[in-house]
Amino acid sequence: MTPDIIPLVAGNWKMNGARDQLDQLALMSQGLDDDLADAVDVVVCPPTTLLYVATTLSEDTPLQVGAQDCHNEQSGAHTGDISAEMIKDCLADYCIVGHSERRTDHGESDYHVAGKAQACWRAGLTAIICIGETEAEYDAGMAQAVLKRQILSSVPEGATEDDTIVAYEPVWAIGTGKTPSPEDIRDIHAFIRETLAEKLGGHGERMRILYGGSVKPANAAELMSILNVDGALVGGASLKAEDFLAICEIYRDM
Ligand code: PEP
Repeated sequence: MTPDIIPLVAGNWKMNGARDQLDQLALMSQGLDDDLADAVDVVVCPPTTLLYVATTLSEDTPLQVGAQDCHNEQSGAHTGDISAEMIKDCLADYCIVGHSERRTDHGESDYHVAGKAQACWRAGLTAIICIGETEAEYDAGMAQAVLKRQILSSVPEGATEDDTIVAYEPVWAIGTGKTPSPEDIRDIHAFIRETLAEKLGGHGERMRILYGGSVKPANAAELMSILNVDGALVGGASLKAEDFLAICEIYRDM
């Protein structure tokens, strides 16, 4: 964690969850007591089909809601896409952009990701910008070079701690049960902090940097004790309220 930065835990449900999954969302919002909500910001990013009902269900609770992707334009002939304004219209406050699954499955480049982040700001959403190296890049010792390129090109100029969060997700750690060593995470997060600060000055020093990739209740405390890890982007373990709240509680207790 970074002194004076309130941590944030975001759950990414990906393409999981029909209406019956809303029970878990209700349990999450009920489980966020004032102590927890004062210590940690908690966001759930369900599939778009559940977005509006999720914000309605969590209204007047500390649970915040986000989307998993947006188009860079406000409206127009883009069949199947969703604009940041539409997400805001569903009363959500966050949007993940540049997740590695979007970069791989939909060929999104750093340029696209930066455009989506700017669309989030235009609509009044906080952008959660994902970066991370593949296993081949990690093995080749290229992780820092890849991350630097992604930060310089995916995080737009003018980003601040109020409108942007960066999530470091090594692609090879997503959904695999593998995580980098704590020393690797410490070094990489320090590198991300330094690069953000070079690019954005004080805003980069204060921006939240989340770690994502196989975070679960069993490893959350160790991951969170690392300097510059200001929260978590959680995939699989965010589908069950019990596991997701357990991760948030670990942050509260640190
Ligand atoms: C993710 O999809 O962003 C993620 C980190 O997934 P998991 O926690 O399942 O590895």
